[in-house]
Order: sequence, then C-alpha cells, then structure tokens
Amino acid sequence: MKIKSINVINGKNKWSESKDKLIHMVLDLGVYENKPSDKIEGFYERIKESLPSLQSHRCSEGKPGGFFKRIKDGTWMGHIIEHVALELQTLAGMNTGWGRTRGVKGQKGVYNVVFNYENKDSGKLAAREAFNVVNDIIDNKNPQIDIIVKKLKPKTNMQESIRRILREETKPFKVSDPSTRIEEDRVKIRLGRNMHNHFGKIQNIIIMVDDQDITSEDGVAGLGKMNIVIKDNEIIVGDIFIPEKYRNQGVATVVYQKISDYFGLPVVNSKIKGFNQTIEGGYIWKNREKFEPRNLQEQIRKVLKEETKIKPILNNMLNMLFDGFDDIYYDWAQYNCGMGVCCDPYAVGFVLPKNNYDDYLFKLVDGNNYDDDGDYPKELSDDGLPEVCYEMPDVRNPNFNFIVFYEVFAEEIENYLGRKGNWKIELLELINEKFGCKATNIIFI
Ligand SMILES: [Zn+2]
Repeated sequence: MKIKSINVINGKNKWSESKDKLIHMVLDLGVYENKPSDKIEGFYERIKESLPSLQSHRCSEGKPGGFFKRIKDGTWMGHIIEHVALELQTLAGMNTGWGRTRGVKGQKGVYNVVFNYENKDSGKLAAREAFNVVNDIIDNKNPQIDIIVKKLKPKTNMQESIRRILREETKPFKVSDPSTRIEEDRVKIRLGRNMHNHFGKIQNIIIMVDDQDITSEDGVAGLGKMNIVIKDNEIIVGDIFIPEKYRNQGVATVVYQKISDYFGLPVVNSKIKGFNQTIEGGYIWKNREKFEPRNLQEQIRKVLKEETKIKPILNNMLNMLFDGFDDIYYDWAQYNCGMGVCCDPYAVGFVLPKNNYDDYLFKLVDGNNYDDDGDYPKELSDDGLPEVCYEMPDVRNPNFNFIVFYEVFAEEIENYLGRKGNWKIELLELINEKFGCKATNIIFI
C-alpha cells in the first residue's frame, strides 16, 4: 500500500456540504485491492484489540459496533484507514467523526480517503499514522497507539511547546538565576484584584510559599504582593517584595517564571517600560536584575544555544515525528530520465523504514550537479543515456555536500522548535554525525 498524496482542504469542497476542514488522502491499495479485511487472517481480532474504542463507530450499520461488523464481513483498507484516522484524532481529544472513502474513477485500487480535522497538522499526521497503524495490524505488529495519540495532540503556541519540551528534556529547567535554591513547587502564585488604569489591566499577585500567604509577614502590609500590568502581549512587572527569610532563596525568580507560565506571555522589566512602582515599607529584592526576563522566547533560545541541548531534543523529536528515524536507510535516489525512472548518481535518498522506497524524508545531493532549488538540472536529465550508479552510494564522499530536506517534514519540526534558523544547523550536524556524511549546507524544498 502506498500514500500517493495528502492534502488539506479548508473551505468549500466537493466532498461535503457541511464540513469544510477536511484531509484528502489518495491511497493506492496495491495488492490489498484484492484483500479486504475478511481475507486477512486475524485482522478483525487484532484491530479490535489495538483500537477497542472503534466500537463506538456506527458506520453504515447505524449502531455502535457497526464498523467492527463491516470489518468482520470484509471492507477495504482505505475505508479502515479513514476510520482509524478519525479515531486517533478522537483519542487525542479532537472532535471529528466525518469521513468518506471512494474509489478513484478509472484507477483500480486507488481511493480518495476524506475525513475531517480540527487541527490541520494533527489531521495530516493522523492520515499518515492511520496508514502505519493499519499496516502494522496487517503485519501482525503491535501499533503504539498511546505514543501516536500523544503526537497528535494539537500543539498550542510555540512558546508553550518549547517550554514543555524544555521541561521534559532538559531538567533542570535552567532559564534563570543560579541563586535559585527554592523548589518550584513550594512557590505558588494566586491572582488577587483586577482593575484597569492607564497602564492597562493590573493584576495583583499574591505569593504563597509552602501554602503560606507570605503577603503579610513581617507585619508589613503589601509585603509579598506584586502588581503586574498586562499590555501589548507582555507582562510588565513591578518590583517584588519578599520577606527577609525568603529573600535569598530565589523566590522572586520562581515567581517571575510562574507568572510568565501562567499567562503564557513574556515578562518585561517595569523600568524598561518606564513604569515604576514602589510600595512603602517593602524591600526590593536586590538580585532581581539577574533574571532579566525580558523576553522568554529569547531566553529559551539562548539556553538552547548555551546548553547545546538542541541536538538531543531534535534527535528525540525526529524519532517522535518520523517513526523509525533511527533506523532510516538510504540508497541512490531516483529521477525521471526520459527513459522512465533512472537511478540518480548525484543524489542519495533517505527513507524511513516503513515508507516506500521513493518516499524520501530528505536527500543528500552533489551540489555541483544540482541547482539551488534542489532540483536535478533538466539539461542533465535530457541528454541521452543515464549515468551508472554503483552498488551502494558512498555518503562520505565530500561531493555530496547538500542536504535537501522536504518542507512538509520541516513544518512538523517548526511546530515545536520555531523557525528553521533555530535548528537547521543542528539538523545538518545531526545528519552528518549519524551517517558520516560531509554536507555543508541544508536547503528546504
Ligand atoms: Zn464507515
């Protein structure tokens, strides 16, 4: 079986009158055109075991269990992949449930599989993963549904995703001041009053340590409290007042971090914004400047660079996003030589273990024989006999100096790590290290 294409539809379309967010996958069933589900031994039992929640799918039978009955009686893989894609999205917390699978006219074994999505990226991924899941079930392998579902959960904003990845991957979360000695979960913040003045919305924050409101310690009113102003998608913080006994424990740093996390916004210093605030009788926490939480995103990027941890993050991410990345294999790429498909002596195609031979995740190419767009120059493909490819490509040959990475896959990495500038060099290095190649540049097409 082979995925021929996956397209995202957002708007009026010929598939549905009421649904406008649809994934359209074209699927070539190959030999499975002659092997519906009842002709594959154990398929019905195995899919029931892997995805018991498909029980709720009514399908054309109109009642729960209807879809399982269709599988038992025999239905085609395109239809099954459609239901699996919907179910994977449901398990990931998204509200989907509409799908259609129809044969492509005049092309035996080729199907249009259409289903709705809530989040475009999750929908696209659901299509690919459903394909993998059904292949696993056919091959009597156990698909890792929980891992897939995790991958499908829609990514919210980039900052939040990065923060989550950092938290998971680079403990301890070192974004700030080395004097932080207090454990983060000992400190809580609580929102207090909320009002407006000419600075914008002012929120009063009450700081708790070990569930104790430290607001009124030392008998000083206003101690432990701080005011913040939310304006233009930034949080402007005033000085923070911390009682003596907590002052050197790094409470302030943790509080800044929590405020930033809570609102999902970067924190800026009030002085930069010309907003000065003093509360009588309080103490200014002197080391405050060390935190300088001007822009969280920038901080994170700095941390990423300093700790050079982006590579392991990227490596793990590649394994999560592209199933089998660690077992990726390569061979000469193919190109259209006018005599049909020829092997390309100037490019090596890298393929995930479960994908088809010509389904490259990326290519390693000889930059002298490729143009800047990553295309094999037309004049080479036009002039007669194709060149000879040797048995196996030598990826260590320094002539292979360019990596051509496909934009659709790059987009998935961007969802987590932001724009390519944040990670493309690391990706290049990672590929070089992994395969011993000597690429000096990476381009995205
Ligand atoms: Zn159905």
